[in-house]
Amino acid sequence: MDYDLIVIGAGAIGVTIAMDAAERGLSTAVVEARSGPGTGCSYANAGLLAPSHAHPLTGFGNVRAGLQNMLNPYGPFKLAPSPENLRWITRFLRASLPGVHGKAVDIQRRLSGASSAIHRRVAESGLDTGFRQNGLLDVYRDSAAAYATTDDLDNHPLQPAFSFLNAAQLDEEIPMATGLEAGILTTEDAHCDGYRYVHAVADRAVVLGVEFHFNTPVQSLIRRNHVTRGVRAAVGDLTAEHTIVAAAEPSKRLLKPTGLHLPMISGKGYVVDVAKHPNDPDRPIGIKDEMIVATPYPDRLRLAGVMELTGSDDSVDHRRIGAMITAGECVFPDLSSRAVLETWAGLRPCIADGLPAIGRTHDRGLSVATGHGQQGLVLAPITSAIVHAQMQGHSGTPSGVDPHSISPERFRRR
Ligand SMILES: Cc1cc2nc3c(=O)[nH]c(=O)nc-3n(C[C@H](O)[C@H](O)[C@H](O)COP(=O)(O)OP(=O)(O)OC[C@H]3O[C@@H](n4cnc5c(N)ncnc54)[C@H](O)[C@@H]3O)c2cc1C
Repeated sequence: MDYDLIVIGAGAIGVTIAMDAAERGLSTAVVEARSGPGTGCSYANAGLLAPSHAHPLTGFGNVRAGLQNMLNPYGPFKLAPSPENLRWITRFLRASLPGVHGKAVDIQRRLSGASSAIHRRVAESGLDTGFRQNGLLDVYRDSAAAYATTDDLDNHPLQPAFSFLNAAQLDEEIPMATGLEAGILTTEDAHCDGYRYVHAVADRAVVLGVEFHFNTPVQSLIRRNHVTRGVRAAVGDLTAEHTIVAAAEPSKRLLKPTGLHLPMISGKGYVVDVAKHPNDPDRPIGIKDEMIVATPYPDRLRLAGVMELTGSDDSVDHRRIGAMITAGECVFPDLSSRAVLETWAGLRPCIADGLPAIGRTHDRGLSVATGHGQQGLVLAPITSAIVHAQMQGHSGTPSGVDPHSISPERFRRR
């Protein structure tokens, strides 16, 4: 065998698994189709590490928001009615039933709580991920919606610390904002810079001996008699005792021959980075009515949001960017006059039941780590901890979550 471990995909999930593998003494390679780490969905995101906001995409709140926005071409949700999307939506609606959704919420929150704590330790260990733990402020035009959220936080298993801000208090916090009635500040939430995270982790992995093979799309898994022994690429075969598929939505195609049919589609999101203003708040602001997040970084202000279930085209629609800028003006009235530094769109890997697929498969030597949807950055460290624990033969998960609930095997066709 060439390696103990091969990881397919150098996004937030893949590089974290590779770094942890090298720390455990495994000879490790990462095989990545593109030219560098963090060039897929992990390139840009809102950077939130917010256990208080960890929830699956499923749930009737999102179904309602989706229906309300059906006729708005630049609303926060969009769905293209392809046969695959309609199959996905059917499963999604089933998973949105209160009992099923409630369990998924609990799982996501536990995973996110455990993972955020690791993010903090990673930053404390000296990796420069842009980590800052100074809370997240959600703002609302209608205080009734804010009160409903406080009920939810009161019943949250992690009991996050939060404070309710009325209009006057909000005015002190973000004086330039207009038309807002209420805010909720979750004080223990953190954020980081997703691209910096991926690069800091990948750099550390290289120091620990991980080999990166860039510009190397994996064509297929090498398998025989339900044993996976590495990957096949145009440049040749690379073999390993264990292979982990962390290739976001394209993981689906690689896994199909194993009998796993992940109900996963791409959820396209958008990012627009604009010049900073000295009066910008220094913590992320969730603009709830518009479903976008504004995250401040040292050199820019980033707006992120939108969920388009429209296929695998990741091109930027500039009318969409314009709509996001308009939507952000309730908090940043000068937004449209600021210099636009970068625009980007990326494809979140979204599984229909709202939970990721993490863990071993029935194939010996094959694990999966994908499908994290809008939570892949925050969940990267716990995902790595889970796959490594399972490779070492542990049956539980480090977060205490039932491994069956997130197992890729829940999608095996029998
Ligand atoms: C607008 C937006 C905002 C977001 N905000 C947040 C947030 O605040 N907090 C949070 O936690 N998450 C957030 N997310 C989600 C998060 O960014 C993703 O869940 C995460 O980046 C997914 O990481 P990944 O490693 O699974 O996928 P990717 O980063 O896409 O990595 C997968 C890699 O696999 C490679 N690959 C694919 N096929 C092959 C192949 N055949 N061979 C080799 N390599 C292959 C790809 O090139 C890619 O580099 C946001 C996403 C978006 C779009």
